[in-house]
Amino acid sequence: MSNSEVSLTRIMDDHTIRPPVPFLDEDAIRPLLHLEDLIPAMEQALIDFSSGRVLQPVRSIVPIPQHNGLMGLMPALYGDLMGTKLVNVYPDNVKRGLTTHQAMIVLFDATSGVPLAVMDGRLITELRTAAVSAVATKLLSPAKASSLAILGSGVQARAHFRALSLVRKFDDVRVWSRNHENASALAKDIGATTCSAEDAVRGADVIVTVTNSPEPILHGKWLKPGALVNAVGAVGPSRREVDSEAMRGAVIVDSRDAALKESGDVLLAKASIYAELGEILSGAREVPSAEVTVFKSLGIAIEDLAAAKLVLKALASLPNHAQP
Ligand code: NDP
Repeated sequence: MSNSEVSLTRIMDDHTIRPPVPFLDEDAIRPLLHLEDLIPAMEQALIDFSSGRVLQPVRSIVPIPQHNGLMGLMPALYGDLMGTKLVNVYPDNVKRGLTTHQAMIVLFDATSGVPLAVMDGRLITELRTAAVSAVATKLLSPAKASSLAILGSGVQARAHFRALSLVRKFDDVRVWSRNHENASALAKDIGATTCSAEDAVRGADVIVTVTNSPEPILHGKWLKPGALVNAVGAVGPSRREVDSEAMRGAVIVDSRDAALKESGDVLLAKASIYAELGEILSGAREVPSAEVTVFKSLGIAIEDLAAAKLVLKALASLPNHAQP
């Protein structure tokens, strides 16, 4: 057992500790959470999830129509750790100069219910989502994949470029976004080129859709044989980024239950789900051999808990971390 695990176990086991519950804001979390660690942590979390070792209801959504927003409540129990992410999605925040996703994660010791920490959930959401797509890309795209198309230019677009670059070597990256200025800014930052969505997708080995579009921005007829689509955005049963033709490929999801409740990409196309990502990672299902593969990411609570656990462990291993 490593020192950090000893330390975390000690915190969780010592029921006499009633400290002020630590709060970690984004600045505190950033140096403690790395995509390199998140990718294997997400692999394990998805395996555990699909093997039934995790308790996690599909999230509840509270619509906030008067502000064009929603609040998602995402609880889960993962071993000795339990918690809930509260995530608010406010697309109009762009006009306020704020990020469109705001979140908090509350963590408890599952054995006693004692609160362990409260963390800002925005950065965790950003990084864990991209890390999960990196897991899918490592597993489901050709090993020699070298061209990447990114449709969208926001927080997830940037995080996905970083995360996917850790698992594949891309020498051709193309960006499209509804707002050309945003596409250009992203392309400049990551050394990509901008073009139409169709030109970005045609010939690409890996495609990432990370927009809040309610209608398809990716058409199956553009996809080349062997392509992998990471469909990440447009969460909700009546929204979709990917058309029905693309969804006729092999569809992999993070959670079947979530996809059948929340994914317009799956529901509107009446797509059949081949497997959960965790089932393929564990070897329970084979990597599909279809011409086109679509990983539909909903984003599930266990990913947030597994990421938060990494943060707690990194915190506990800091030399000056206050020991009880
Ligand atoms: P941002 O707000 O940072 O970026 C939103 C992006 O969507 C921008 O590129 C914007 O394009 C584009 N967009 C918004 N509305 C439209 C539209 N009507 N048509 C086409 N493009 C549009 O959001 P994030 O990057 O954080 O998230 C991107 C998507 O991923 C969202 O749908 C979000 O809910 C989802 N998401 C999914 C997660 C998961 O686990 N699966 C986790 C986190 C987010 P432009 O700037 O050019 O206007």
